[in-house]
Amino acid sequence: MHLHFIGTGAADWNIAAPSADRNFRRFSSLIINGELLVDPGPCVFEYAETFNKPELLAGIKYIINTHPHSDHFCPSTVRGLGRLGADYIITADFIEVEFGRYKVKAVPANHETTVYPTNLIIDDGDKTLFYGLDGAWLPLSAIREIRRRHFAGFVFDGTLGALEGDERIFEHNNFGMIAEMKKALTKYTDRFFVTHIGRCAGENHDTLAKALAPSGCELAFDGFETEI
Ligand SMILES: [Zn+2]
Ligand SMILES: [Zn+2]
Repeated sequence: MHLHFIGTGAADWNIAAPSADRNFRRFSSLIINGELLVDPGPCVFEYAETFNKPELLAGIKYIINTHPHSDHFCPSTVRGLGRLGADYIITADFIEVEFGRYKVKAVPANHETTVYPTNLIIDDGDKTLFYGLDGAWLPLSAIREIRRRHFAGFVFDGTLGALEGDERIFEHNNFGMIAEMKKALTKYTDRFFVTHIGRCAGENHDTLAKALAPSGCELAFDGFETEI
């Protein structure tokens, strides 16, 4: 399974002034195998332009969404990709939806500032990915689904970075929470990635990566690609 992180920031970044610099993050989106877009946020077309990858957009065949916050769901992105041939796939908690080579099951997320927040279990027929944003910790119902599988990767919401004592921990994670979850979930997955970093947590990628490193998790950045 090929992962292409085309956005790794939370909603407090200034997307009106985008950059290809690693210390800039646009709103979080991920493209799997060049064809499955997770979260059609408002930065998808801009990313393709800024990184000079026009072929990226035409390759997207399917779109899925975690929740309707405006940093994750943009109607004009869905319309634009629809014109290029992409299908929008609706997911629902605990229902396995099949399309192409994929099976996707949504599970509830701890992110109650929106309606029906979900995390996504994405199986491409070869590997399985847990896409855990937005949210804080994981609800027990999500853990029950995780226990039944082995994952090639987990992607966690790391909005607060190394910040402590911030009451957003009740709907987003900081690095301390991620480190603890990794300890508890290591037996279920091969790799851990952290994305959806708030600008409030600091802009310097290397500083953030250093703060996260003791946990063994990998900090994604805009343009990060990897095979799991
Ligand atoms: Zn978000
Ligand atoms: Zn959100």
